[in-house]
Amino acid sequence: MHVYRAHIFHIAGSPAQDQVDRALVSHPDGALVVDGDGRIVHLGPWADLPDAFADAPVTRADYLLPGFVDSHLHYPQSYATAAHGGGQLLEWLDHCIFPTESQFADPEFADRAARYFTRRRIAAGTTAAMVFGSAFPVAQDALYRWTDAAGLRIVSGRGIQTVGPAAASSLITSEEDAIRLTAEEIDRWHAIDTGDPRTARIQVGVVPRFSLSVTPRTLAALGELYDHARGDGVYFHSHLNENNRKGDGEIAAVLGSYGVEAYLDTYDGRFLPGSKTGGHTLLGRRSTLAHAVHCQPRELDRMAETGTSIAHCPTSQLFLGSGTMPWRATVAAGVNIALGTDIGAGDEWLISRVAGDAYKVHISEEGDAGTALHPAELLFAATLAGARALDMEHAFGNLDVGKDADFLLIETSRWEPLEGMLSMGIRADDEEQATLEELFTLLVGMRQPAIAGVYVQGRRAVTPEL
Ligand SMILES: [Zn+2]
Repeated sequence: MHVYRAHIFHIAGSPAQDQVDRALVSHPDGALVVDGDGRIVHLGPWADLPDAFADAPVTRADYLLPGFVDSHLHYPQSYATAAHGGGQLLEWLDHCIFPTESQFADPEFADRAARYFTRRRIAAGTTAAMVFGSAFPVAQDALYRWTDAAGLRIVSGRGIQTVGPAAASSLITSEEDAIRLTAEEIDRWHAIDTGDPRTARIQVGVVPRFSLSVTPRTLAALGELYDHARGDGVYFHSHLNENNRKGDGEIAAVLGSYGVEAYLDTYDGRFLPGSKTGGHTLLGRRSTLAHAVHCQPRELDRMAETGTSIAHCPTSQLFLGSGTMPWRATVAAGVNIALGTDIGAGDEWLISRVAGDAYKVHISEEGDAGTALHPAELLFAATLAGARALDMEHAFGNLDVGKDADFLLIETSRWEPLEGMLSMGIRADDEEQATLEELFTLLVGMRQPAIAGVYVQGRRAVTPEL
C-alpha cells in the first residue's frame, strides 16, 4: 500500500459530456491509496484516511491529477514540431512531414526517436496515448519496446499509405503489403502484455493516414481486415475534415477524388461514388478521428451513433490555419470529444496546454457559438474523455476506486509562474467558485517542469536514456 497526499482533482464516475461539471471532485487535502497491484483502493480527505492505511508510506505533492490522455499525436513527427511549412496542411505535408517521416526507415534513427518520443510523453504526463505510427515496422517495433519499458500505455498502428505525392514515395506500399504489414503488427504487438484488450497497456490499431493516402480498394481491404480484428479490440484511427481551404484543400480533394457526399463516408464503408457502400465500416467504440473541424451535421450524428470519438486538436488547427471545431454543436450532437496534441502540427506536448488553447479558441467562436469552457470540461477532455475514446474508461481516466492508479504529481515550486498564480492570484469568496478558479489556473497555467511524478498502474514511469 502507498498513500499519496495532495490537493486531488478528478471527474468521478462516467458522466455525459454535458454533465461533467457536476462530476468534478476536489479534495483540497486528499489521500489516494494505491495497493501493490497498482489499483486505487481508497480516495478521500486525508482527515478521513481509514486506520487500515495508517501505517502505509506517504508521498506528498501540491496537486494530484489523473494521467493525461493524448488522443492524437504522430510518433514519426517527433522532431517536426515548430516546422515552417510555408502553407496549410497539404503544403506542410509535402515540405516538412513526408521527408521527416522517411527518416524512420533507418533502425538507429528510429530507435533514438522512439526514446525521444517516450521521454517527451513522460515529461508531459501523457500516461495513455493514441499514437499515429510510422510506415516502417522497424520503427514501430522500437516504439512499442520503449513504451513498454517505460511502463506507459499506448495504442498505435503503422501509418498506411498506398498512394501519394512523390515526396511520400518511401512511405507508400502496395495495397497487398499495406494489409500484410498491418496484420503482422497486430499479431506481433496487440495486447502483447496481458493478452486481453480490456487490460493491456500495449495495443494496436488500423491507421490509414487519411482518405487521400489510400484508394477505395485499400479501404475495402482495410474494412475486411478490421471486420475480423474488431472483436479482438483492435482500434481504428485516422483524420477527418481537417482543412477546408477553398477549392484545393483536404476536404475538397477527398470529396472530389472519391465522389462521396461526406468525408466520413469514406471510413464508413461508403467510399464509392455517390457514397454507395463498397465495404465494411471502420467506425465504432474503438475508433477515433482527429480534427472533425468542418463536419456536416449528419457526420456528427453518425459518429455519435457508432460511438466514434473525436480527437480535438486546437493547437494544431491554429498552427495549420485549419479553423475551429464548433464546440457547442459538436457536444450537442453527442460525440465524445477528447484532446490531442497532434504533434508535430501541434507544437506542444502538454495536453493541459491544448486544453488551454481549446478554451481560447472556443471563447473566440463567433456569436452564439462562442463559449467559456467550464474548468471541469477542460479536465474531463484531458483525462476521462481520452480514456473513453480509447474504450478504456473501465481501467483509467479518473481516480475511482478499483481503477488502475494512473496519475500525476504536480509541484508548483518547479514552475515559478504557476506557484505565483496559485498562491497569490485573486480568488472568489465563494468556496466552490474559488475551487473552479484554482483548477482552471492549474490546468492552463501549468508547464511541463511542474510535473514531478508520472504513474501508470501505480508504478512510476521509467524515462529512457536518450
Ligand atoms: Zn494528425
